[in-house]
Amino acid sequence: MPSRFNLFPFAVGQVLVLKKKHPCGSDRWRVERVGADIGCICVGCSHFHVWPRRQLEKALKDVIEPSLPS
Ligand SMILES: [Zn+2]
Repeated sequence: MPSRFNLFPFAVGQVLVLKKKHPCGSDRWRVERVGADIGCICVGCSHFHVWPRRQLEKALKDVIEPSLPS
């Protein structure tokens, strides 16, 4: 069993900055779908990719929250 249960609150609209760059050169992904796996679109090339939640948490460097409607 993993020693810690750290469920990061991923939410649609967030932009995730990952440690690893996509081949297109962008390290940012926009969250499109949230569940057991997280569906993201690469900000650089619009490539859609589904990440296992745990893998995404490990690769995560920063999160840019969507700007709130004023
Ligand atoms: Zn890309």
